[in-house]
Parts: sequence; C-alpha cells; structure tokens
Amino acid sequence: ESEKTAYKRVMLKISGEALMGDTSFGLHPPTVQRVAREVKSVHDMGVEICMVIGGGNIFRGLQGSAQGMERTTADYMGMLATVMNALAMQSALEELGIHTRVISAITMNEVAEPYIRRRAVRHLEKKRVCIFAAGTGNPYFTTDTAATLRANEMNCEAIFKGTKVDGVYDKDPAKHSDAKRYEEVSYDEVLQQHLGVMDASAIALARDNDLPIIVFSLDEPGGFRGILAGEGTYTIVQ
Ligand code: UDP
Repeated sequence: ESEKTAYKRVMLKISGEALMGDTSFGLHPPTVQRVAREVKSVHDMGVEICMVIGGGNIFRGLQGSAQGMERTTADYMGMLATVMNALAMQSALEELGIHTRVISAITMNEVAEPYIRRRAVRHLEKKRVCIFAAGTGNPYFTTDTAATLRANEMNCEAIFKGTKVDGVYDKDPAKHSDAKRYEEVSYDEVLQQHLGVMDASAIALARDNDLPIIVFSLDEPGGFRGILAGEGTYTIVQ
C-alpha cells in the first residue's frame, strides 16, 4: 500500500527534453510511459497532481527567432509544442488508468479544455491529473514561469522540478567532479549566482509567493515518490 506524504497538492514541472529519451528530437514513447509511471506512483499516494511540460524537444521560440522568424510567432509555435507533449502525457497516464485533463492557455476546444481556474481546482479535488498546456499563453514567457503561475493559482504546496541531476550544484556536476550539491538554497542566491534552476522570472514569482521549488532527478526510478515520502536527495529552493 501507499507510503505517507505530507503533501496534498503539487506541481510537477518537466522540460520537453525529459520526454525525448536518448533521441535528439521529439517524443520517445517508452520515456513518456516511464515518466507516466512515476506520476502514477505519486497519484497512488493520494496526492493531487498538476503538471507543466515544456516544449523544447520540439520547438523553442528563441531558436526560431535566431533563425530569422518573428519572435512572437516562434513563441506561439513553442507553446503549441507543449500541447503536443501534454497530449502524449495524457495518453500515457490514461493508459495506466489515471484520469487526466489537458488544460490549454490557448483555446483549442477540440483538443483541450480552456483554462478556467475553478474548473481546474475541481478536477484536482476529483483526483484528476491536470496537465497545463500552452505555457502562460503569452510570448516572451517560459514554461517554468507557467508552472510557477499555475502552482500559485492552484495553491500547490511546492513545485517539483524534475531534471537529469538530483539537485542544484555550485557548478556543473557533469563537468566537475568536485561539484557540490546544495541541500537548501535561497531564491536570491539562485538569482545572484545564476544557478540554473529555472529562469529569473519564474524564480522571482516563486519567491514573491513563498512557493518552494524542489529540484530532483527524474531519471531516478521511484525518485519522485521517494521525495514525497520524505526520502532521497534533492535541493530545496525556499
Ligand atoms: N513559450 C511561450 N510562453 C509561455 C511558455 C512557453 O512563448 O508561457 C514558448 C517559448 O517559445 C518556449 C517554448 O514555448 O521556448 C517551449 O517552452 P520552454 O522553452 O519553456 O520548454 P522547456 O525548455 O521546458 O522544454
């Protein structure tokens, strides 16, 4: 049976690249399914789950604009990429018997629900996983900001940022063997030292609303569930 957790409602933020597996573009279905199983194991604990998935495995606005595309158009393409990722995750979760809703910040009624805050809250109360797609619906933002915004709106207790490493380090642990992981770091330290947790607007939005950010490894099987049960290694930004 399920372990105990202190958390009632959380936001899981993952990048689009987390769904790419070892490939260099797009979606790798076995990886999507693996992430879905991690989400299910936390859902099984009775935790209400919000998700935001990036779009960088398909399209990034900045890359498009660097190649001569108009920036806002490129950003809308990036937002549309997040909708594809959200649908892939929805499909994988429903395959595991979990009810989900994809809720889009850009209306596309045939594909996803529009974002209506009270409705989203109700879904969470009914234990449906809410996957928030299309970022904030605005160009010049990122999905990290979208995750922070929705986490605040949904009254999540924390943002869980799933990455390739088990926390925030003082330097890149892939390049430096003496890199040290922080157990805890403040929002201002993250901003001042440019620690690559999330972009600055997202960090500031979390700070101004006292929303903790927990950075952990999504590659560690059972890691997400373990941290919710009070185990494992991670960094908490608060
Ligand atoms: N994006 C946007 N507004 C938002 C969220 C995302 O314009 O509120 C666009 C932006 O172009 C970004 C792309 O969507 O590059 C994909 O999102 P992001 O880069 O955050 O994805 P990740 O790096 O997490 O995969």
